[in-house]
Amino acid sequence: MSASQFAETHEVFNQVPSLDGANLYRLDTPLQAWVKHYGGSFAEAQLQAYGALAGGPLMAAGFLANENKPVFKTHDRYGHRVDLVEFHPAYHELMSTAIAHGIPSSPWQDPREGAHVARAAMNYLHNQAEAGNACPLTMTFASVASLRLQPDLAEVWLPKVLSREYDPRNVPISEKTGATIGMAMTEKQGGTDVRANTTRATPVGVGGPGQAYELVGHKWFCSAPMCDAFLTLANTDKGLSCFLLPRHRPDGSRNQFYVQRLKNKLGNWANASSEVEYRGALAWMVGEEGRGVATIIEMVALTRFDCMIGSSSLMRQALTQATHHCAHRKVGGRVLAEQPLMQNVLADLALESEAALALTLRLGRALDRQHDEQEDKFMRLMTAVGKYWICKRAPTMIAEASECLGGAGYVEETIMPRLYREAPVNSIWEGSGNVQCLDVLRALSKEPGVLEALFHELGDGSGDRYLQAHIQQLKNDFADIADIQYRARQLTEDVAVAMQAKLLLEAGNSTVSDAFIASRIAGRGRVYGTLPRGTDVEALLARSTPLV
Ligand SMILES: Cc1cc2nc3c(=O)[nH]c(=O)nc-3n(C[C@H](O)[C@H](O)[C@H](O)COP(=O)(O)OP(=O)(O)OC[C@H]3O[C@@H](n4cnc5c(N)ncnc54)[C@H](O)[C@@H]3O)c2cc1C
Repeated sequence: MSASQFAETHEVFNQVPSLDGANLYRLDTPLQAWVKHYGGSFAEAQLQAYGALAGGPLMAAGFLANENKPVFKTHDRYGHRVDLVEFHPAYHELMSTAIAHGIPSSPWQDPREGAHVARAAMNYLHNQAEAGNACPLTMTFASVASLRLQPDLAEVWLPKVLSREYDPRNVPISEKTGATIGMAMTEKQGGTDVRANTTRATPVGVGGPGQAYELVGHKWFCSAPMCDAFLTLANTDKGLSCFLLPRHRPDGSRNQFYVQRLKNKLGNWANASSEVEYRGALAWMVGEEGRGVATIIEMVALTRFDCMIGSSSLMRQALTQATHHCAHRKVGGRVLAEQPLMQNVLADLALESEAALALTLRLGRALDRQHDEQEDKFMRLMTAVGKYWICKRAPTMIAEASECLGGAGYVEETIMPRLYREAPVNSIWEGSGNVQCLDVLRALSKEPGVLEALFHELGDGSGDRYLQAHIQQLKNDFADIADIQYRARQLTEDVAVAMQAKLLLEAGNSTVSDAFIASRIAGRGRVYGTLPRGTDVEALLARSTPLV
């Protein structure tokens, strides 16, 4: 035999076609349906265009930005302290594309009906390509709500925050064409318990809202430390207050803001998260003195909403990969997507993904209609419920989706390991799981009309007897306040699935709503792939499998 015959050891076959370059919007039937349902159709062309970017160049940039983690430089080559974090060009490409397409700004610039829904859908596409850089995008988007509470600061900062230009230069705000904003609350002794913050703020002059202070203290977590300014918390004599702390002082000199080191994280690799110290850093008070939590909570509510978008998006990308793989991969001579047990798993994952998306975009609609009292109360409660439930579901759902790819799903050449590493953080930051459940109880007990708004929204379960019984049980459970903190996770989960069932029923696709109710309300499968007999798995898969 010749040498060339030995060189060809085998033929490669039964591998799936690449999804590289797929349009993530065009292949996502549920996303298209829910965007339309909640009034985001005006952005159809934009979503089509962004879907192509997210599945193409941004997806490629996402891999590069994770393979090349940010690097922290304390000093320049001449020995000057600089505190710079250097990112791979792919990170900057992701940031500039998202900003140019209005992901941190569009609903503020053009607050029309459906604006938050459309922006959420854009962000959903972007997060599938790369979720780490979504952190500064989200914080910049969310900072607008808190900055607006201090009009003199807003006048200077908002034109740059809402700019469509990404300007990563480390220069003062006066020289910038666009700005990004971070948030620093967590200290070593307490993240949940921000009231334990020890950072002190001393007025430079008269003090009070909009006035300059010097801050001395630290923050244990400060993500995206290359942001142009940070909303942060510090104590004055009147208590915890909110401040805007820029990287530069008005005279152009560097502020006394020192990055100590970057965190070595489980995932979220493209994003830098740091520890910082303030050594007399200049900052301006935002909102009322002593009301720092109330001021920054405006921002936190929006970042929690974005955690829902982020986790829903990671789940969708995992589902896309799993259904695509199984539509092509044969085992025992038969395509996996046609084998009954795999159909059960994939259809169950598809239900989870769609229910997460439905709840997320329903919150987008509430944001679009915040002037309506019912919507405002709905938003107050359901942000905590949705943040808890969707972020909690993501890691297990993504692990199961990865397993659908077999060994390939465990290998870094696929996106699956990154999705899995990324998933837990949304449940931790912006208030961890238990904190969200306790916030649900707080909203229900302290804010008049929230419980009524919940049951008004759930109504009579749209005539479904299982959902009706579930809602009645919820009413009984909330009426019984014994051990209510102990039961808070169960209650929050029960609200979440009731709301998801109601939204799916309302949207009118009975294949999806029947399967969701049968599996999540009437029955309770403990792992994915336990849908009851009679579920129309083929229809569910047809809805969720990418058509390429
Ligand atoms: C990658 C990453 C980036 C981050 N970036 C930022 C950032 O940019 N800015 C920032 O300010 N923070 C940031 N954080 C910090 C994050 O917000 C905090 O870690 C989080 O709020 C939890 O605070 P903690 O770590 O102090 O935990 P703790 O407050 O000690 O909480 C520990 C656990 O106890 C639970 N718990 C708390 N209270 C109760 C209670 N009453 N009953 C029952 N359980 C309770 C919590 O849910 C949590 O599970 C980041 C974190 C990570 C992982």
